[in-house]
Amino acid sequence: MVKPLVAGNWKMNGTAENLGEIAAIAEAADGHADVVDMMICPPATLLRNASYSASGTALKMGGQDCHPEVSGAHTGDVSAKMLADAGASAVIVGHSERRADHGEGDELVRAKAKAVIAANLLAIVCVGETLEERESGQAVERVTSQLKGSLPEGATASNLVVAYEPVWAIGTGKTPTADDVAAMHLAIREHLSSAFPGEGSQMRILYGGSVKPSNAAELMAVDNVNGALVGGASLTSADFLGIVAAYE
Ligand code: PEP
Repeated sequence: MVKPLVAGNWKMNGTAENLGEIAAIAEAADGHADVVDMMICPPATLLRNASYSASGTALKMGGQDCHPEVSGAHTGDVSAKMLADAGASAVIVGHSERRADHGEGDELVRAKAKAVIAANLLAIVCVGETLEERESGQAVERVTSQLKGSLPEGATASNLVVAYEPVWAIGTGKTPTADDVAAMHLAIREHLSSAFPGEGSQMRILYGGSVKPSNAAELMAVDNVNGALVGGASLTSADFLGIVAAYE
């Protein structure tokens, strides 16, 4: 039985005044810790204080992106080691907003995932097709190609999580049908099982894209869906905990 993970991606949202939401989630985390892992990925500016708010609880912290190198002349970037130093136990890499806004391709995403694992953190690697790719029947092919290019050799179920996030479902309120999610997650599982023998069958595959309290139970019950990556609905403790409640 794979323990699910519900991770919140705050994106470029949140200042010190929002730390109370993290404290409220942290306060509830221990009550869910037996059945689900919980994580918030705040902006890097909040990571250390958010970690203090969650210290001593089951709530984990994550970063949203990192540079593939450990340190150096890369103005404005942060490394996985720095995120770990600020309290992160995971880093999201390859989010579609990074891929689109910053032109990040699979090779760079793989290098970032490697850096995350080398820093002894969990890499949450995002993949997902655009609406055009889905409508032209290329969704599985596109996602499989991203998996081939973005996942580093030697990844294990303990150091890597895949997040399937159809680009057209992110922040739009639209979600694929449960059948479409099942078909994609099965294709991802088959790829992982053959690419990472002995590990791929246990790797967590999160669904992300407009998950909210009202649809979480249906989406989380789909085969091979081992949790969620949540954007907008992770910004308030009420919504985030409403999603976590899918595992009660
Ligand atoms: C995300 O950006 O990872 C995401 C899933 O966003 P939302 O839940 O807002 O669609």
